[in-house]
Amino acid sequence: MSTQTLPEVDSDTRHSTGDDTPKMFHYVRKNKIAESAVMGTHVVALCGEVFPVTKAAKPGSPVCPDCKKIYEGLRPGGDE
Ligand SMILES: [Zn+2]
Repeated sequence: MSTQTLPEVDSDTRHSTGDDTPKMFHYVRKNKIAESAVMGTHVVALCGEVFPVTKAAKPGSPVCPDCKKIYEGLRPGGDE
């Protein structure tokens, strides 16, 4: 049972490693990831952060608090 499911949002944007990876995970809409992967462009996170789709925070990195706040605001019900 999951209370974290939100089909349009995926925090797992790890596609490769790089040396200028973000320090935090940002929530990005899956359709944006797909589009950016095809176009080779940047993705825009929920918080407005823009970064290359190929760059993502390392596993274990904290989640961007702004993205988290917005993400939780999107959750139906919104209870803890
Ligand atoms: Zn963010």
